[in-house]
Amino acid sequence: MNTKTILVNTASPDKARSKVLIIYTGGTFGMAHDKDGTLIPFDFGLILEHLPTLRTMSLQLTVVSFEHPIDSSNINPEHWQLLAQIISDHYNTHDGCVILHGTDTMAYTASALSFMLEGLAKPVILTGAQLPISEPRSDARENLITALDIASAKEDGAPVVPEVCIYFDYELLRGNRSKKVESMQFDAFDSGNYPPLAKAGVKIDYNRSVIRKAEIHKGLHVHQTFDSGIAILKLFPGISRPIVESILKTPGLKALILETYGSGNAPTVLWLIDALKAAIDNGIIVVNISQCPGGMVLQGRYETSRDLLRIGVISGADMTSEAAVTKLMLLLGGHAPEKVRVMIGKSLAGELSE
Ligand code: ASP
Repeated sequence: MNTKTILVNTASPDKARSKVLIIYTGGTFGMAHDKDGTLIPFDFGLILEHLPTLRTMSLQLTVVSFEHPIDSSNINPEHWQLLAQIISDHYNTHDGCVILHGTDTMAYTASALSFMLEGLAKPVILTGAQLPISEPRSDARENLITALDIASAKEDGAPVVPEVCIYFDYELLRGNRSKKVESMQFDAFDSGNYPPLAKAGVKIDYNRSVIRKAEIHKGLHVHQTFDSGIAILKLFPGISRPIVESILKTPGLKALILETYGSGNAPTVLWLIDALKAAIDNGIIVVNISQCPGGMVLQGRYETSRDLLRIGVISGADMTSEAAVTKLMLLLGGHAPEKVRVMIGKSLAGELSE
């Protein structure tokens, strides 16, 4: 995968107040009409033509663009490795980073990066748009301008938001708590289990008490190894035994996310509990994540989750599926199963409430 770098000094001729890295991956944000009227990814070197107001922000921007911008439905762990590499290469020389990304899988990328970038002490803000920047009613302009403002915001010399976030439609959300919840309206993201870190109105109102404290002494340590031997099994009334059993017997399966009802409940039928128990006894890690966007898994609260607790299903508490998928792939890539079993239920980057 190749990238190209463009320097955009929006501060010239004045001195820049901050240096921000922009990584352009693709998505709806950067689409523009070509001469035949077809939507194609725009040339990021022309950003000042689309957004002349950037000139008033006194920022020095380094733009690293994917050579072939992608629809985010095509994102995979190799792209996450590339993103983490670009961030780490520019980490010491820049104050923060904005990633322009398609909305479809933005919550997965934000979650993955939050676990990959251990010891992060600077803002990494993902944003995108529901309407391309070339459209008159586009949300791209506001999303980018405010994301840049947040990525460069400092207080007493320290970054205000030293974590991986999604900024979209006037709200700043913790990345690994976010979900795409809307594909037509502008309010595409929500974090049902965690309050917004900031709201952008006339000014940007930061909710400092819910923003993570940076562990500056640690330094940035990038985790890069993924293991994709995982699956999600979403329960539904009438789910059939042969299908469940065949998923649990899939060769190479190391961990399963069981998407349960409500506070972590599942049917009490014996065949289901037996199949899950056999898988767990065979070393497969089973994590309970609720289908509810709000609330949390509490195994044992109802009779319908008591057996899950007994056979060794691990509670995913209030983690999103997006966080659970990326965390499991990364943990399995770097640790033995016994350690993964312990770490999956612990908060690594603020993704769950302990
Ligand atoms: N399909 C697009 C993507 O995720 C949608 C978007 O950008 O909003 O890349």
